[in-house]
Amino acid sequence: MSLRNTVFKLLRYSGLPWLIRETLQRRRVTIAMFHDIAPDHAEQVFGYLAKTYHVISLDDYRAARRAGDASRLPDKALIITLDDGHIRNHTLLPVLEKLNLPVTIFLCAGIVDTNRHYWFKYKHPEIDTQALKLVPNEERLEKLARVGFQPEREFDTPLALTKTQIREMESRVNFQSHTVFHPCLPTCTDAEARTEIFDSKKILEQNFSLQINALAYPNGDYSDRDIDLIKQAGYDCAIAVDFGYNTLKTDPYRLKRLSVDDTDNVDTVCVKVSGLWTLLMWLAGKRRLKPPTPSPSPGGEGWG
Ligand SMILES: [Zn+2]
Repeated sequence: MSLRNTVFKLLRYSGLPWLIRETLQRRRVTIAMFHDIAPDHAEQVFGYLAKTYHVISLDDYRAARRAGDASRLPDKALIITLDDGHIRNHTLLPVLEKLNLPVTIFLCAGIVDTNRHYWFKYKHPEIDTQALKLVPNEERLEKLARVGFQPEREFDTPLALTKTQIREMESRVNFQSHTVFHPCLPTCTDAEARTEIFDSKKILEQNFSLQINALAYPNGDYSDRDIDLIKQAGYDCAIAVDFGYNTLKTDPYRLKRLSVDDTDNVDTVCVKVSGLWTLLMWLAGKRRLKPPTPSPSPGGEGWG
């Protein structure tokens, strides 16, 4: 067993995640973020989460907020989310059915049902993905264009869910917005941010007949300007990757979420979904609990 796995196993069985669940998380709503988890692994991980928490849908939480009634929510409520709309998400459907779990998947409206690719998956020796998250959006697009990537370029194979797959999953999955092309919103001009926020809602509603009321910020990054645009566009909530757990009073446009890597084993997932890992990293000075606003955070975990 690797040192890392040993550390997570010790932390899991230290009783601290249990203590956090029974105290901080008991009357709050935890939101966990995945991206492209493999179905057999998801069965283990989601199965563990379903035994440890009460998995609810984002809609359950929104309904409790609208009613102002926390008694509608179970203790230790957990919302499972997956960002980007990766094509392999479709293979999770039998797992979700078997475990009877609701999840929310945030789709890039300009990438689903096309052969366009996510810019952060484009590999080229001259491309530093983390660095590109920090430069103005126009500069990022220019640099990518110079090495052959355009947001609208159609590649040979799809990376994102197709319309048929989305249809098949709709009864089990709540699909929401993750912008059109996944820029870090604070790096965008006002016009670019407006297009990403407004058009993703419009495309998903008009072309996919989805009801869009939530947006997950690409890379977890947002500014006050982006929140204003999201309100104007008619979303009623937005999900960040800021540390913490949610109550009915949490700012609906800064919902807190904890990041999990898709390959994390159950010990690691236990520790991360309790929030303990982020807290320890913060205590060690290796993690901010909130990204600096309005500038983007340098490289959140995973793909954002
Ligand atoms: Zn993303």
